[in-house]
Amino acid sequence: MNAGLKISIDKELLDAILEGARRLYPKETILLLRGKKQENSIEISDLLVPPLAKYGRGFSSLPLHMLPMDFSIVGTAHSHPSGNLMPSHADLNHSFGVVLMITGFPFRNEQNVAVYNRSGEKVALHVTNP
Ligand SMILES: [Zn+2]
Repeated sequence: MNAGLKISIDKELLDAILEGARRLYPKETILLLRGKKQENSIEISDLLVPPLAKYGRGFSSLPLHMLPMDFSIVGTAHSHPSGNLMPSHADLNHSFGVVLMITGFPFRNEQNVAVYNRSGEKVALHVTNP
């Protein structure tokens, strides 16, 4: 656990991410996370569907050069239909932003969510307004 970074997300927003993952299962979903970044904390506030995302082809197919130059993007959220919450090598090599969120099958609640920083260290996720 990385104690230096605090990441929080509203319960409703987390539910929307999980629901999207359930809906596209068994394909992979990928979303961009927008938020407010402070010195040691990130508050995820919004989701964005990336342009030209090819669902089901894996995280590494996201055309990063097509992403908007938007500094409010703090990271990505993608699904693992396998249920494995560990980031793959491709996930770490192609990470975008500071937050790498992975949701795993069955996409039911925060037990099926893991968050990593860009070096692949697990970071606690604080769910607000449960
Ligand atoms: Zn992945």
